[in-house]
Order: sequence, then C-alpha cells, then structure tokens
Amino acid sequence: MLGAARMVTGSCFEVKTQGHVFAVDCGMHQGGRQAEERNLNTAFYEPDKWEFILLSHAHIDHSGLLPRMVKYGFRGPIYMTAPTEALLKIMLLDSAHIQEMEAQWKTLRMKRHGERKSVESLYTTDDAIKVFNLFKTVEYGETFSPSPGISVTYRDSGHILGSAFIEIETPQGDKILKVAFSGDVGRPAQLIVKDPSPLKKADFIFMESTYGDRNHKDEDASLDELAEAVMHACRHGEKVIIPAFAVERTQEIIYCFHLLYRQKRIPEDLPIFVDSPLAIQATEVFRRFSSYFDDETKDLIARGYDPLSMPNLRYTLSTEESMTINAFAGPAVVISASGMADAGRIKHHLKHNLWREGASIVFVGYQAQGTTGRRIVDGASKVRIFGEEVAVKAKVFTINGFSAHAGQAQLIDWLKTVEDKPMHVFLVHGEYNAQQCLAQEIERRLNFPVSIPEYGQVLSLMAGKEPVCTVAPRGVMEVAPWVEELSEMERIIYDLKTSFAPSEPEAKRRLQELKQKVERLLEQG
Ligand SMILES: [Zn+2]
Ligand SMILES: [Zn+2]
Repeated sequence: MLGAARMVTGSCFEVKTQGHVFAVDCGMHQGGRQAEERNLNTAFYEPDKWEFILLSHAHIDHSGLLPRMVKYGFRGPIYMTAPTEALLKIMLLDSAHIQEMEAQWKTLRMKRHGERKSVESLYTTDDAIKVFNLFKTVEYGETFSPSPGISVTYRDSGHILGSAFIEIETPQGDKILKVAFSGDVGRPAQLIVKDPSPLKKADFIFMESTYGDRNHKDEDASLDELAEAVMHACRHGEKVIIPAFAVERTQEIIYCFHLLYRQKRIPEDLPIFVDSPLAIQATEVFRRFSSYFDDETKDLIARGYDPLSMPNLRYTLSTEESMTINAFAGPAVVISASGMADAGRIKHHLKHNLWREGASIVFVGYQAQGTTGRRIVDGASKVRIFGEEVAVKAKVFTINGFSAHAGQAQLIDWLKTVEDKPMHVFLVHGEYNAQQCLAQEIERRLNFPVSIPEYGQVLSLMAGKEPVCTVAPRGVMEVAPWVEELSEMERIIYDLKTSFAPSEPEAKRRLQELKQKVERLLEQG
C-alpha cells in the first residue's frame, strides 16, 4: 500500500508475484503539506524495479506521480484505455506546469526572505513528455499478459471517460489467484459515461470508499439544486462560481446546463464561462471518443443535439480573457478548475466572489481534507487565498448528486455483482470514518470479510486463505495521530450542518461527541 490508505489521494499499489514486480496506479498525494510530503518520499517507491504499471484512469490522484517514477528509473510499459491515454497527456502536462509554477513561486518567496536555496519542482514538463513514450492502450474486456504468468483484464468502471477497474489473475500452486482493483467506481445513471460493468470474479478486491458513509441525492433533486443556485445569484445580480475538475466533472456540468437551458429553467441570455484551458482540451477529447458514451448521450447526439454546448457557452483560453470575466458586470456562471479550489484559475474567481453576499459557490465534487474547497464546505467564515484572508459571505451549495463516485448503497450493489462469492474486501481511497461505516454495511449486508489497510502495509494474498498483513519497514512517513481524530470531527460537523435541525436529540448527541473529541485533543496537548 503506497497510498490512498485511509485517505482519498495518492492511489498506488506495488504488486509482487511469480518473481515479477509491478504497480497499479501511481497517484499524487493531495490536500495539505503532510500529505504532499509523501510525493517527495521517493525511497518509498521502487520504480526502477517495476516491470510495468497498470493505470485505472486519468485522474491525477491515480496518475500524477508517473513523471516522477520515470525520472527515478521506471522504463516499462504503462497500460491504459485509449481515452485515458488522450486525457492523461493533457493532464500530466497541466500537472507539470502547476508543479513548475509552484516551485518558482516558492523559490521567489524564499529569496524575498533572504534565502539562497531554490525549490526543485516535483517534476517538469520534460519529465511529463518522457512518460508518453511508455503508454500502451488496451480495450475493455480483452485479457492480456504483461508478463508471463500474469493475466490482466480492464473493465469499464463508469467513473470518467476511459476509466477502468482491473482484474488480475495469476496461478498459485493448483489454484488461480484473482485480485481486483476498483480504481474509482462511478455512479450508475451518471451523465455521459456508461454504468459500471459487473465485477466478474475475485478472491480479493481493493475497493474505493470515497462516499462509504453516505448516499447521494437523486439526479433530479441535484439538477433542481443547481437551478436554485443559479437563480439565487441571478436575483442578486451576482455570479455563480463552480469549482470543477476539468475532466468529466466540467463536461457533465455543461451537460446539466444544456438540460436546464432546454427546459427553460435558467435565463436564456445567462453567460456561462468555462474558464480552464485544461477543460477545453478535455472537452475536445470527449468529442473524439464519443463512441465510449452511454446510450442516452449517443441518442441525444443522434437526434441532433450537442450536450457539450449551448449558445451562451464561452470558453476562455488566455489569461487576459479569464481576467475580463471578473470585470464583467451582472450575473454569469463561471466553471473553472481545480475542483478542490486549491490551484488554478478558480482561486481568482473565488477571491473576487466569495465575499459577495448574493453570489453562489457550487461544489459538485469531492473535497479532500486540507483543501480550500473542504474548508468552505465545512463552513469556514474566512479562507486564505493568495496570502489574503477572504470572508465567505456567498451562499455555498454542495451538490453531491452529480458525483462521479458511487454512494454507499451503489458500492454495495456493485460488490454484489461478483460471480464467485465470497471475497475479501480491502477498503482504500476513503477517509477512515467513511471506510469504517462502509465496512460495517458490507459485513452486515453481504457477509464479506473487510479490512482497512494502512499506509505502507504489506499484504500476502493466497487463493482460498485469509490475507496476512504486516507493516512495511521501509521509509514510511507517519501521519500525525490526531489527523484521524480531526477527520472524524469534520464528519460530525458535516452531519450537523446537513442532516439535523438544532433541536433534534441526535444533533445534541453529535455536538456532545464533538465536544468530547475537542477535549480529548486538548488533553493530549
Ligand atoms: Zn477518479
Ligand atoms: Zn480517485
């Protein structure tokens, strides 16, 4: 377990079998200094020993460390679907650009403080380009053998264009060991992409658990909420700011606006800006791979509609164009990246609008711990953007119904599709609380054994046997013990804000629980 253990980002598994070593995913750790330091812990990865990498999908929390691995000696093929390859090329270049800018900015700051050192970028554009030569595309449902004795099959996980869950088979004595890696599992009925394929067979599965503790509202309610957020800002003559991941999330939100526009539920002349060069490039990739769309979207296109456009939609490529949006008077919708509001152009739009009463800030994706987006969602009255304290006076909407991740019940439904039950479930890619909650539900409803592995843990898997777990000795970076406690507190605050009226006894109980946790932390000093 090299990442996404009891947290959402940094997905990476090193697998050793039949004398071969390879990795599944190679994601960046995101959300605060402590998580990000793991990106630098190169000694923890052994990229020069990896024969190949299996990549589930293009998102940076699954792919963002690939250039760093190539920089430190990885030379093998990286397997992925064709849409993932196209998306990944633009995403890695974007990520490298962000890394370079951040390093420059940090170096400048140190110089201003009189220091001479310069900060090295996590990787550069050149490092990213070197990765492209290693890409090898595979088709959904076609089994291939990257090394002798290892069979791999990619299946559609319905999360973003080209996303896959990965099934691996390898002989073990007279048995065949079957291990599945879920990547990220999509929400059934999600726009554009197909529903997740059924899980064929597995003795062990490593499954994501991002929304392990809650279910999503349905799509119609979410569309209503989006319309409400737009009308709220329009009534006040203000803007609607939507931080959105450039890939998939932005395209789905455009699709939603396309629907609202056709249903005449938003003003016909309301300008909608997509202010993210990456989103613009990603939208082009979507158009190129429309054969991967679900039937509903294909049908819409066949009837002559373009779900990725509408008359008032404007794409802004250059920084100058982007800046004119802030000078633009009157209501408008601005969709921009990053989705968790801690990088990219969205920071400018938040700085200009967060403090405005009457503006709407709409969160449509998961906000990881430690990010600016998470702080706003959790009700912070002020946040720091570009070194400045900005008051949060705008109305904040959190619409989880558009999530690209399955909710709790949907994850359990997906687990039920496995052919040869039972299997051992390892929960990854989720905060510990959400994971504990999901683990209980899986045990109760499916009677599958469940474990929640830790960062750096080594698991020995034998077909037909219980897994054996040990903690890895090499260079594991510890997370402060109170991080879990904090995450639990954040969950309670979230529940209090969204689920209960203050008078309800359950709210009182949760508040009491929160108080005890704060006291316990204070006692620990
Ligand atoms: Zn993802
Ligand atoms: Zn992910």
